[in-house]
Amino acid sequence: MSKEQNGTEKPQNLSRRDVLKGIAITAGVVAAGAVVGVNPIGAAHAAGKCPGITPKASLQYQPHPKGKEQCSACANFIAPHCCKVVAGSVVPEGYCMAFILKPA
Ligand code: SF4
Repeated sequence: MSKEQNGTEKPQNLSRRDVLKGIAITAGVVAAGAVVGVNPIGAAHAAGKCPGITPKASLQYQPHPKGKEQCSACANFIAPHCCKVVAGSVVPEGYCMAFILKPA
């Protein structure tokens, strides 16, 4: 294990390939829904379920921010507690490797 600049331990057992594979699977589900005329993100959210399917561990999700990067500032965040990528509920102060800064 190595220490990041903020002093937290970062697991080394996940490759960049694993992360990209998880994101690709999520994108594939969304694209498949578009082909058949269903919005899987909107449908899942409307049903009270979060649409993300990538396991939190594979994207190193953490329930606290990484600097100024946090779910509430991410383009994948669906308020109040869902993510388009990560499975299960997330908190607005959370963070993972799929963070994308929300456009201003
Ligand atoms: S930081 Fe990660 S968990 Fe949070 S909303 Fe963005 S993609 Fe989802």
